[in-house]
Amino acid sequence: MKFDVVPHPNPTDPAQIVEVLKNPGFGTNFSDHTAVIDWTAEAGWQNARVEAYAPITLDPAAAVLHYAQEVFEGMKAYRHSDGGIWTFRPFANAARMNRSARRMALPELDEQDFVQSLEQLVSADRDWVPSGEGEALYLRPFMFASEAFLGVRPAKEISYRVIASPAGNYFGGELKPVKIWVSRDYVRAAPGGTGAAKTGGNYAGSLLPQQQAAEKGCDQVLFLDPLHDNAIEELGGMNVFLVTDDGRIITPELTGTILEGITRDSVLQLARDRGLTVEERRITLDEWEAGVNDGTITEVFACGTAAVITPIGELLDGEKTIASTGTGEVTQAIREELLGIQTGAVEDRHGWMHRLA
Ligand SMILES: *Cc1c(COP(=O)(O)O)cnc(C)c1O
Repeated sequence: MKFDVVPHPNPTDPAQIVEVLKNPGFGTNFSDHTAVIDWTAEAGWQNARVEAYAPITLDPAAAVLHYAQEVFEGMKAYRHSDGGIWTFRPFANAARMNRSARRMALPELDEQDFVQSLEQLVSADRDWVPSGEGEALYLRPFMFASEAFLGVRPAKEISYRVIASPAGNYFGGELKPVKIWVSRDYVRAAPGGTGAAKTGGNYAGSLLPQQQAAEKGCDQVLFLDPLHDNAIEELGGMNVFLVTDDGRIITPELTGTILEGITRDSVLQLARDRGLTVEERRITLDEWEAGVNDGTITEVFACGTAAVITPIGELLDGEKTIASTGTGEVTQAIREELLGIQTGAVEDRHGWMHRLA
């Protein structure tokens, strides 16, 4: 697909970019440009372009504002020592966005066009990619129903966009185990629902339980599947892993109510490479608690693009605290290897990295 590059009328001063990159934070600063592709039912995908980042004009009747017809992706671009800007498994994100799009009755975008949109944006905004340890340019591709129409049917006008935001080291350098609140009042997803799609509504529904978690002094929420003996599902935006004392690594199987994390898939591969026995199956909260108490479960961690891998310290279930370990050896080793591959410090055996610019 051919992208037009519309020059920015008033680009950020390079010294100002350097200033922003000194303290990138997360999700508050945005690069100068955005990649855009329009879609209509009649013409399909068209008008691919890179243009100045700016507010969007939407009709108040735009379908996304009423019926939440939208999907998104999240990935990171790293500045490597070879001078290139690289990202991790972008074709996996492209394929997942299309799976999400199918579920939300949105059009699919050719995987090559998806990856090209990232290349075009990062080429225009390469100065916005930070170079500090653990820092990256966070890329947020998303697609939404822009058609002005209040009837309930798939929209005939869709906008696909990519924005980019410099992201600092998630943990400020130190790996601190997080405290998790078990949600007994709410579920994240249900059989046949939208749990496997990366769509905003899943996040909207997780905000109230997240608020409860914060009130209890917890960082994040663990969702359960009450239809299956309270099997563990995932956190609001991260998948969960348990490590045993006899070399097994266990994660909930993909049943349609869990989001298929690309980090999850990569952790499974790296665990196999290390000779760990991988189990994708239902695991209940009771099994987790019993395993922590009798010492057979030695480590628990969560994973996703934003934080990569973060150890789970404590699990709070009502008044009961299920204490886990701190940062275990397996958690630490897989995290270092994965981060090493992403930042270019460790050999990319699986061909996961893709140069964007
Ligand atoms: C994005 C997301 C994840 C993590 O996926 P990655 O591809 O590893 O970033 C996990 N759970 C939910 C609900 C998500 O939206």
